[in-house]
Amino acid sequence: MDLNLLIGNGFEPGQETAEQVLNPRTGGLIVEVPEASAGQVDRAVAAARGAFDRWSRTTPAERSAALLRIADRIERDADEFARLEALNCGKPINAARNDEIPAVVDCWRFFAGAVRTQHGQVAGEYLAGHTSMIRRDAIGVVASIAPWNYPLMMMAWKLAPAIAGGNTVVFKPSEQTPFTALKLARILAEELPEGVVNIITGRGHTVGNALIHHPGIDMISLTGDVATGKKMLDAAARTVKRTHLELGGKAPVVVFDDADIDAVVEGLRAFGYYNAGQDCTAACRVYAGKKVYDRLVADLSSAVASIQLGLEDDSANEIGPLISLRQRDRVASFVNRARELPHIEVTTGGEPMGQGFYYRPTVIAGARQEDEIVRREVFGPVVSVTPFSDVDQAVAWANDSDYGLASSVWTRDVGRAMETSARLRYGCTWVNTHFMLVNEMPHGGLKQSGYGKDLSAYALEDYTVVRHVMIKH
Ligand code: NAD
Repeated sequence: MDLNLLIGNGFEPGQETAEQVLNPRTGGLIVEVPEASAGQVDRAVAAARGAFDRWSRTTPAERSAALLRIADRIERDADEFARLEALNCGKPINAARNDEIPAVVDCWRFFAGAVRTQHGQVAGEYLAGHTSMIRRDAIGVVASIAPWNYPLMMMAWKLAPAIAGGNTVVFKPSEQTPFTALKLARILAEELPEGVVNIITGRGHTVGNALIHHPGIDMISLTGDVATGKKMLDAAARTVKRTHLELGGKAPVVVFDDADIDAVVEGLRAFGYYNAGQDCTAACRVYAGKKVYDRLVADLSSAVASIQLGLEDDSANEIGPLISLRQRDRVASFVNRARELPHIEVTTGGEPMGQGFYYRPTVIAGARQEDEIVRREVFGPVVSVTPFSDVDQAVAWANDSDYGLASSVWTRDVGRAMETSARLRYGCTWVNTHFMLVNEMPHGGLKQSGYGKDLSAYALEDYTVVRHVMIKH
């Protein structure tokens, strides 16, 4: 297994404390990965700075070709990338291989195409005798920091638009999930000029902290927790770095009385529990019309009880364990606190299972708007259901959240779907589905879910800067 950091064009082991990477299925040690020293962080930033001038002046076609080569290499090694991701995160191999890797490859290809279609908005004479033009140029060196839920995919979302835009990057994967990043490092070193991407491992409060405070960094891009996002903003303030923050979510799912309840149940079974609910868009906070509430709770509970996990035959598993013991205990404590409330009923699940970090898929019925389980991000296989009486109440409750990433509306009435979607304060609203992402469309939040878009041409805008060039005749 590749465990070395990539700094410039060289591979070297981290020089500091070794971080244990555990197998979420068993709790056993897989390997120890040493983290980068302060000196290695410095050298990674210096390598990225050294590469910037030349890389930022390559043509879009040159950068596009590099991205396409990277996509091809990931596709060629898809089985190995999927194996590493499944090992590191406990994901079912089929989910890693058939859902994630193709989306990762497509992300690199999308940005390879998108960067060649960028154009400036205007050129003209706004002052007599002078011509103005608009350029879109690279920002500089990006510190890019990723979470553990989709390691290789988050890496693609962050690296592809950043380097397509002409930036250079120092990338830090989560200390819990470095395997696919360190494998991709080999490919990046072969397909990109020296220093364009540097990869360092380590914990947030040590290596991450050194990186975001580094004076050689121009922009910080984080996918992670809201609390971590706030640390990025503090660090950015010192030298006025740009920031791009994709933070958590608590997606409301508004189910009207006229919805196709079978489709809602099938959707929630899939989109509330995929990746064991460790997804910031997970369909985790259901508001159901009073007429359909009882049936929805009953049908959802039996559907969720049938989700397959923890089986020896991994091809039959639909979800895996949680990433860590800490995460499993966190999920369990949310459910236990909810269970103590007299109005709440845990209709299925509600307990850890087996060895490793598994938690049973859980439905919590009778939850109220003020309950912690409705308000805070659990990031586990737990869905709450709350009855509502009219559309205004449903919209008010859905919007009454610190988060603003994703939401969905389920109804057969097109007018109601459009009107409700327009009123929801979320970066994305799906109608009669949830969770579906495409590389052409933006993904990003409002409120404390952060700002800045991943995916789509908007991400390319976020990783570039508008400039004005004025020519005197
Ligand atoms: P986290 O915030 O703990 O860690 C994310 C990354 O930040 C890790 O690489 C970590 O090492 C680093 N980090 C932590 N503290 C740091 C510090 N002080 N300085 C610099 N770096 C630091 O989040 P996590 O537990 O890895 O991931 C789960 C969270 O991410 C959830 O809250 C989830 O909602 C969110 N998430 C959001 C999106 C999105 O698109 N909005 C996608 C995936 C995950």
